[in-house]
Amino acid sequence: MENILDQNLEELQNWMEKNSEKKFRAKQVFDWVYDGIYDFDSMGNLPQGLKSKLASYFYIDIPEIVEAYKSEIDGTVKLLNRFRDGNIIESVIMKYKYGNTICISSQVGCRMGCKFCASTLNGIVRNLSAGEIISEIIAGGAYISERISNVVIMGSGEPLDNYNNIIKFLELVNLEHGLNIGQRHITLSTCGLVPKIYDLANKKLQITLAISLHSSNDEERRKIMPIANKYSIVDIMEACKYYIDMTGRRITFEYALIHGENDAKEDAYELVGILRGMLCHVNLIPMNEVKESKLKKSTNQNVKTFRDILDSSGIEVTIRRELGADINAACGQLRKSYLESHD
Ligand code: SAH
Repeated sequence: MENILDQNLEELQNWMEKNSEKKFRAKQVFDWVYDGIYDFDSMGNLPQGLKSKLASYFYIDIPEIVEAYKSEIDGTVKLLNRFRDGNIIESVIMKYKYGNTICISSQVGCRMGCKFCASTLNGIVRNLSAGEIISEIIAGGAYISERISNVVIMGSGEPLDNYNNIIKFLELVNLEHGLNIGQRHITLSTCGLVPKIYDLANKKLQITLAISLHSSNDEERRKIMPIANKYSIVDIMEACKYYIDMTGRRITFEYALIHGENDAKEDAYELVGILRGMLCHVNLIPMNEVKESKLKKSTNQNVKTFRDILDSSGIEVTIRRELGADINAACGQLRKSYLESHD
């Protein structure tokens, strides 16, 4: 049995033809699924024979929302999604003036080992399939009964460590008969798997690439991000320049400010030296403290000073607004505490 959400239109059309059905049925099936009908029997305009064939070949895996939290402060919604094999992942929906943005996970757990991140503490369980990643958006949209117009792949997992499924996801999310979310409304965040950044650049997509930099020199970066042992900042910057050349898109650099680790004035000046002249934007994130880690967030003063140094050097910079502060909305913390309390 296969998850029908893992099929693209062409694949489902081919399946129809192989099974002596009309090609146009594929679109009808997608219309139903994306309209919130999750069993083949209820798809009114399909012949009975096709419904049974579909049901014997495919299942529709929309995760069950096992827990949901809504922030009293800003309406941010955090969802714990359970797939049919029992694995749990989290997603977050943020309400902005320009529409709803969902932050989705790309893997169950993560194997990158960043020292400040709760998603990676227990390692990786498995990749999510393209259809499962899509279904986080379907389930989230159904939960809030509103359209989701923007997607950030910034939940648990390293998307470029699940490259093929992410590429397929990027194709599926665009489908007119599906979620119809354009590439410019999608951001993919990576800790910097350099060869995969080149592969992605060669696809010439219009998505925004966000790089989790978090340090302005390799020595410091290696202390908090094991991936820095494999790829240097110079390697990352070259890959980013290639990405810009191929796509014309501005790169976002994420920089979580950690007290005493990466938040000194010298770090800010060093970062300016790396980024000057590049088509980019820096997003400063006051680190979210994770109980398993000794790392602490920077003081407000350090955050402001850091921002001002970048700003006065002509680097575009914003400080990420903290959303969902009352619901543990950050970075794998919820899945972890759920797993601990249900052991
Ligand atoms: N693996 C990808 C995407 C998931 S993490 C990546 O590394 O980019 C999404 C972002 O949240 C990354 O920038 C990550 O470094 C950051 N992050 C993780 N834990 C954090 C924490 N405790 N405080 C602030 N940012 C954190």
